[in-house]
Amino acid sequence: MTVFSGSGWVPTMMRRSIDLLLPPVCPVCRGAVSGGNALCASCWPTMESITSPVCKVYGTPFAYDVGADIVSAQAIADPPPFGAARAAVRYGPAAKALVHGLKYQDRLEVADLMITAMHRAGAELLQQCQLIVPVPLHRWRLWWRRYNQSQILAAGLSARSGIPSDPFVLCRKRKTRQQVGLTANERQTNVRGAFLVPADQRIKISGRHVLLIDDVYTSGATAKAASRELLRAGAAGVDVLTFANVCQ
Ligand SMILES: [Zn+2]
Repeated sequence: MTVFSGSGWVPTMMRRSIDLLLPPVCPVCRGAVSGGNALCASCWPTMESITSPVCKVYGTPFAYDVGADIVSAQAIADPPPFGAARAAVRYGPAAKALVHGLKYQDRLEVADLMITAMHRAGAELLQQCQLIVPVPLHRWRLWWRRYNQSQILAAGLSARSGIPSDPFVLCRKRKTRQQVGLTANERQTNVRGAFLVPADQRIKISGRHVLLIDDVYTSGATAKAASRELLRAGAAGVDVLTFANVCQ
């Protein structure tokens, strides 16, 4: 059964080439599925979509409906520099498999699924943004991995929405440790001052509303540090859209 399917963009040509060689498989468990880019019936239930009611600021789900425009205690205690964050799914086993497949295993074909889910979850944010910007990798890490997974998601969202994306606006001015395995405080220290909008790029974001794209929202340290730099460099506002959120 095909239940969660992506269509359109990312490497369509590459996917077609793969489909010619291999029958379509579930991107999570690699079991057979009827069509390309779909989760199988066993893996689908483990993909937990984040749906309203959610915190207006952090996008984290509430256990019960508390009404529109309600913010979480976290948003009051720790107001972020960005306006709103949204994510498509909780970072459960299926989401983790997709993220790891895209990030570490060169499984570019899973990006379509992720982009479809993000396009839906980020519909409101996409409406009010004028530029889509991926969270960058440091150039050494980019060289090692060969592509930036967030840039692939940003380009796919741009193709779907018609809003331009630009991977050159924001860069990493220093190499940071991998965030995996760090505590929330360590993550914050690790990425503080790590991002830069180069002087010759500022005109692209000056007075514009930017949508920042990443694969996973964990502690928020990366999204907050990148948002601060975009705002410091002249963006009128920043929202954040990720595929998954750990929802701690
Ligand atoms: Zn599966």
